[in-house]
Amino acid sequence: MKFLIIGQGLAGSVLGLTLLQRGHEILVVDQDETITSSKVAAGLFNPITGMNRSKTWKAEELFPFLKRFYTESQKLLGGTFYKELPIYMPFTTLESQNEWVAKSVEPYWAQWMRICDNKADANFSKYVKNPYGGMQTLQSGWIDTPILLERVAKYLESINALRIAKFETKDIEWQEEIVFQGESFDKLIFCNGLMAAKDPLFSWLNHAHVKGDLFELQILDMPQTHIINKNGFILPLSNGNFRMGSTYNNFFDDPVSVTNEGFNELYQKLEGILNTNYNVVRHYAATRPATKDRRPLLGIHPKYNNISIFNGLGTKGVSLAPYLAEHLAMYLEGKIQLFEEVNIERCLKYYKSEHQNV
Ligand SMILES: Cc1cc2nc3c(=O)[nH]c(=O)nc-3n(C[C@H](O)[C@H](O)[C@H](O)COP(=O)(O)OP(=O)(O)OC[C@H]3O[C@@H](n4cnc5c(N)ncnc54)[C@H](O)[C@@H]3O)c2cc1C
Repeated sequence: MKFLIIGQGLAGSVLGLTLLQRGHEILVVDQDETITSSKVAAGLFNPITGMNRSKTWKAEELFPFLKRFYTESQKLLGGTFYKELPIYMPFTTLESQNEWVAKSVEPYWAQWMRICDNKADANFSKYVKNPYGGMQTLQSGWIDTPILLERVAKYLESINALRIAKFETKDIEWQEEIVFQGESFDKLIFCNGLMAAKDPLFSWLNHAHVKGDLFELQILDMPQTHIINKNGFILPLSNGNFRMGSTYNNFFDDPVSVTNEGFNELYQKLEGILNTNYNVVRHYAATRPATKDRRPLLGIHPKYNNISIFNGLGTKGVSLAPYLAEHLAMYLEGKIQLFEEVNIERCLKYYKSEHQNV
């Protein structure tokens, strides 16, 4: 089949590569914005997340899949964007230490984490506040998303499958086939991140975007062997600095501007993590295309069966995108049904008459 994909963020890039690999033809249209969620993302993949440090949804499937996908993509595209790194997580209370020591001997948890010994904790305590010791994750790391996007763009250009333009629905004619700039496509897939909430075709979905601020830090002498996570993360960057974040803000005026509140929140988090001196060298922000139920948005438009969406990747785009891109591709090929949790049919109650005239 031949697909027209709108957006070359993480969603459009990963879906594009997946469709090519499955033997389809694609054209990706992207308006090349300077600041997007994918260009700013910290890029972490972590099987144990959230305030309660619970297991990520479908972690058993997502994590082996993402490793295969990104390492194979790296071979195809060149560059280094897939970085495996353990995450050191200091315990915040004696109770949480006891709880994780007990969990660590269960086979299920042993695949994702282990408790650090006294020597490792002592090494970290030079830099990190860890009075109760800590644990470290396995199968974790980060994707350098700006490099991934740049490599995908170069690859798509080389096969004449990328167009830099702002797409508008009025640019296409659509009946049986979708016609864009004189070229016919079987299917159109929106991977347009935040913009889906403004596009009448998909504005009725349960979008609930979440803004996040980040710092880039200089931390002299801190080893770059681990990511640190304690109500905020500190991630070693290739240039010797560290990225630190993040905030989660549901109420904001502008999706990309930094604020004093964001600065102060990050600063407070840092004070709870670090035991050593640091300099803030950059403060920046972007907004995650997230949903009210914190599940992605995949599926076919209720009225137009050749128009689909791949969106709502929220805070976990890096780990969700590879597995769900293949899931969507197989669904569009008519081979499987979508998981109910990600299918946009769960939002049909919001699809009202005003949306049906589009
Ligand atoms: C501060 C912050 C920290 C994050 N940290 C992590 C993390 O540690 N781990 C993780 O997994 N995820 C993280 N994320 C989330 C992650 O960035 C997102 O899940 C993911 O990048 C979303 O990708 P997307 O392609 O759906 O959206 P986007 O990145 O927004 O991409 C959409 C693309 O569509 C293009 N577009 C839109 N409309 C049009 C149009 N009309 N015509 C042409 N092009 C168009 C845009 O220009 C853009 O390139 C973080 C996000 C933020 C903001």
